[in-house]
Amino acid sequence: MPVFIGDLESIKRISYELCEDLSKEGAVYFEARYSPHLFSNLPRVKNFFNVPEGDVTPRDVVRVVNEGIREGSKDFGIQARTVLCMIRDKPEWSAEVLELCEEFHNDTVVGIDLANNEMLELYTQHIEGFKGAKTAGIHRTCHAGEMGPASNVQTAIEILEAERIGHGYHIFDDESVVKLAKEKSIHFEVCPTSSTRTGALEDDFDNHCAKRFLNEGMNISINTDDPTLFGATLTREFSIARNHFGMDDRALALMTLNAAQASFLPDDQKAEMIKSLKVKFKEIL
Ligand SMILES: [Zn+2]
Repeated sequence: MPVFIGDLESIKRISYELCEDLSKEGAVYFEARYSPHLFSNLPRVKNFFNVPEGDVTPRDVVRVVNEGIREGSKDFGIQARTVLCMIRDKPEWSAEVLELCEEFHNDTVVGIDLANNEMLELYTQHIEGFKGAKTAGIHRTCHAGEMGPASNVQTAIEILEAERIGHGYHIFDDESVVKLAKEKSIHFEVCPTSSTRTGALEDDFDNHCAKRFLNEGMNISINTDDPTLFGATLTREFSIARNHFGMDDRALALMTLNAAQASFLPDDQKAEMIKSLKVKFKEIL
């Protein structure tokens, strides 16, 4: 990351090429999640990397990501949207993340997230960010139960009113939270390679909690998390699901329909996407 923080041309190109990469893997739609602040080099945005200060604002970052995504979608025939992250230990950024979600709502931003160290406090600014997003009709997902306990998933559902949970693996430590998630049909974004590389779970795909999610009939999708960091591609993650989680073509197709249903697209566009997926899958379903 240090090499492209504050480099708008590179950030745009990365966004554009993400569309190319995912289109080559056969994806028809994706949501890319990132923190605009972590690519800004403003002095007030002291991030984790010691890069030279400059004048690239978080808003500039969102603007060029949107340009890259729009142009890439068109050139590679794929639909794409973005989700902006609040960062757990940077509550002072949260109001601006919400403002950016509102300003760029549906161009290409469709959701808000809370990322980073789950063991840290949930600051009121994050709660306000989620409440403001709900009021503005912006969708909500939240990292919870990845490294942190099942109670974080409960907080994300009950206090932050998240519709999707990032990871959520540790939910099975508390049956009451499993019950809550089932009642509310919460969608879980499971990322196999990431789940073992981050140390969230043991490196044993045959005993992965994705199987438990599936056995319980819960609503999940298979995702890459950080492709560059973990060497995870959608193709690799789907083959892990096939080889270790016992998912056949039909199970993978049904899961893809769940992912589409849980997407943050406006209802009419979502219905359109589901319709075209069902046509693609008609031999399998
Ligand atoms: Zn993540």
